[in-house]
Amino acid sequence: MPRKHLDTSFNLILELEHVRRYPLLQGEAHEKANRTALDAVEALIKQHVIPHSPVNFAFRREATRDYRCEFCNMPWTEKSEVYNGGCCARDEECNPENATSDSACV
Ligand SMILES: [Zn+2]
Repeated sequence: MPRKHLDTSFNLILELEHVRRYPLLQGEAHEKANRTALDAVEALIKQHVIPHSPVNFAFRREATRDYRCEFCNMPWTEKSEVYNGGCCARDEECNPENATSDSACV
């Protein structure tokens, strides 16, 4: 019997666009907005799709982590964990060439 092609695994990938649209949304508010959106979509699927579907669904969430300046939320571009190349005045205070021993940069 000749081999035939059969698709056996299907995934629906839902990418939240506002992550790109509002990349500078501040830290925890950004994470909370994403979780709230995913919760809403998952609830709708559980309420309106699953009861009428002959197949089971598995929900799995993944997130991409990046690093930001905690002062201005700009993307972290430097290898240093305390100085982001001077993205803002407060970051510049953490410049190892300028920082004092009592700075809040460590
Ligand atoms: Zn900054």
